[in-house]
Amino acid sequence: MRLILFGPPGVGKGTQAKLLSSRFHIPHISTGDMLREAIVAETELGRKAKATVDSGQLVSDDIMIGIIRDVLQSEKTKNGFILDGFPRTVPQAKALTDLLKELRIVLESVINMEVNDREVIERLGKRLTCKSCGRIFNLGIDKLADPTKCPHCGGALYQREDDKPETVAKRLNVYARSTAPVKEYYRQIGLLTTVDASGEINEVNRQILALLNRR
Ligand code: AMP
Repeated sequence: MRLILFGPPGVGKGTQAKLLSSRFHIPHISTGDMLREAIVAETELGRKAKATVDSGQLVSDDIMIGIIRDVLQSEKTKNGFILDGFPRTVPQAKALTDLLKELRIVLESVINMEVNDREVIERLGKRLTCKSCGRIFNLGIDKLADPTKCPHCGGALYQREDDKPETVAKRLNVYARSTAPVKEYYRQIGLLTTVDASGEINEVNRQILALLNRR
């Protein structure tokens, strides 16, 4: 299985990618998670990317394409992958097409998850992330006994810098301007399918599984 989950911030790409990853034993490749890990570990990449990520802007295409090249050439993705957060610009999408061709890998599907901006703003405003295991919780859905502590691993829950309301508005603008055009790119090459991601997690998952079954 070689998939891209595509859509605006907060649409649920990470949540659905994790479900598909454990069901099909295929790695979930989140470029956002990779950048956040690099920032925490204070690697050269992390130091370069921190201000950009925190402010809701996009890290440069060159850096991101380099990261994806390394991942797709690694042992980890040899039996498949679920990409979450990449590609985010048309040049990234084109570079991915070239890279897949070079590595003789066939991309099966790009699943476009759709939800309106109002819902995105509401979801991100209630999203908490675990500093230790990276799991995501939503104060509107998950019943957390203690909203400061991850119920899975006990790590500290926090609101991502870029989930703060001022930055969310900026991320939605960046999405509309730079990322949404990627949809057209995949529509034209016949890989795009769309699901309504406004429902609850299991319902969206059912739609994605039905769609994968059909392909
Ligand atoms: P995410 O967790 O997918 O929402 O990503 C968080 C942030 O990481 C984004 O707002 C960007 O600053 C950066 N980022 C992640 N993936 C990419 C990408 N493919 N291109 C550029 N920036 C990215």
